[in-house]
Amino acid sequence: MAEKIILTGDRPTGKLHVGHYVGSLKRRVELQNSGEFDKIFIMIADAQALTDNADNPAKVRDNIMEVALDYLSVGIDPAKTCIFIQSHVAELTELAFYYMNLVTVSRLQRNPTVKAEIQMRNFETSIPVGFFTYPISQAADITAFKATTVPVGEDQMPMIEQTKEIVHKFNAVYGETLVDPQILLPSNKACLRLPGTDGKAKMSKSLGNCIYLSEAEEDVRKKVMSMFTDPDHIRIEDPGKLEGNTVFTYLDAFCNDGHFAEYLPEYANLDELKAHYQRGGLGDVKVKKFLNNVIQEELRPIRARRAEYEQRIGDVYDILKAGSEKAREEAAKTLAEVKAAMKINYFDTPEFLEEQSKKYSK
Ligand code: ATP
Ligand code: MG
Repeated sequence: MAEKIILTGDRPTGKLHVGHYVGSLKRRVELQNSGEFDKIFIMIADAQALTDNADNPAKVRDNIMEVALDYLSVGIDPAKTCIFIQSHVAELTELAFYYMNLVTVSRLQRNPTVKAEIQMRNFETSIPVGFFTYPISQAADITAFKATTVPVGEDQMPMIEQTKEIVHKFNAVYGETLVDPQILLPSNKACLRLPGTDGKAKMSKSLGNCIYLSEAEEDVRKKVMSMFTDPDHIRIEDPGKLEGNTVFTYLDAFCNDGHFAEYLPEYANLDELKAHYQRGGLGDVKVKKFLNNVIQEELRPIRARRAEYEQRIGDVYDILKAGSEKAREEAAKTLAEVKAAMKINYFDTPEFLEEQSKKYSK
C-alpha cells in the first residue's frame, strides 16, 4: 500500500485566526489523531511570505513563533506531526527552479487566487517575480514530501490544480516520479472561506478583519459584538436576511445543537434561530451574544494551551529546529529522485562517467 502523507502550511504573516482554524487547522488535528496517515508535515511558509513582504523581513521573522505557538495550542502534536520552516529546506527552492520550466507565464496569469491577491496587494503594475511564481514553489513544497493529501481552505484550490498539472507534466516528460496530491476541503460549506468580521469575502491576516486564536476573551467579545450583520435589520421587529450576514455564517461554521442547550435553550437548533430572525422579532445583540459564547468555548482550551507553551519557548524552538532537519532529509530524497529522472545526477552514479568515457575513447 502506498503511504498516506499530509503536507500543508501557513504563511507567517500574522497570528492565525479562526478562519484558519475552521478552514484547515481543526481538520489537521483530526487527521493527525485519526492515525490514518503515515507522515504529516506542516510548514511555516516563510519563503512564500517573503514573496509579498520582501521589504518587511522583521514581520516574517516575528511571526514564525506566533504560528508555531498557534499550531501547538490547537493540538498539533510534534510527536505525530513534523513542523518545519520552509526556508530551512533549501531543496524546495531547487525543485521549484526545475518545475518553472514546465509552467507557462500565461498559465500563471490565469490562476484566480493569484489574480485576486495581486489586486488585493495593489501589485498590478509591479508584481514581484517571486510572488508571481509562488504557485510553482507551492508545487515544490507539496511534491517534495510526496503528499497524497493537502487539507486547505477553498482559496488554495487553484494551487493544488497547478501542482497536479506540474506532477502530470513532470511524470510524462521524465518518467513516473512525483505523487499526484488530492485537496481536502472542509466539509462544512461555511468553513470553505470564512468571511472577515467586516463581512468581506475572506478573513485574512492581510485585511485586518480577523478574530485571532490567541486573542483575549474581552477583545474577541468586542469583535463579535461589532460584527457585520444585515444592514437593513434596523428594528428588532424587522425581518432579517441571512444571506451575507456574517454572524449567521459564523454560527454555521462553529455551532452545534449542544451549544443551544447550553446557551440558548429556547431554540432547539440553528434552523429555528434562523427562522425567527427571518420572521422578525429577534435582535442582532442576542444572536451575537450567543455566537460569542460559542466562539469563546472553542477558544478557551486553545488559549490555555498557548499560555503553557509561551512559558516553554526554548522547547518550541527545539521542535522547529528538529522538524526542519527532518523535513530537509525527506525533501533531499525526492530531489535526488527528481534529478535522476531529469538525468542531471552526474555524480550520484558511475553512469555519467562511463557514458562519457565511452564517447571519447575512440
Ligand atoms: P495572507 O493574507 O498572508 O495570505 P491568510 O490569512 O490568507 O494570510 P494563509 O497563510 O495564506 O492565510 O492560509 C493558510 C491556510 O488557511 C490555507 O489553507 C488557507 O486556505 C486557509 N485559510 C486562510 N484564510 C481562510 C478563511 N478565511 N477561511 C477558510 N480557510 C482559510
Ligand atoms: Mg493567503
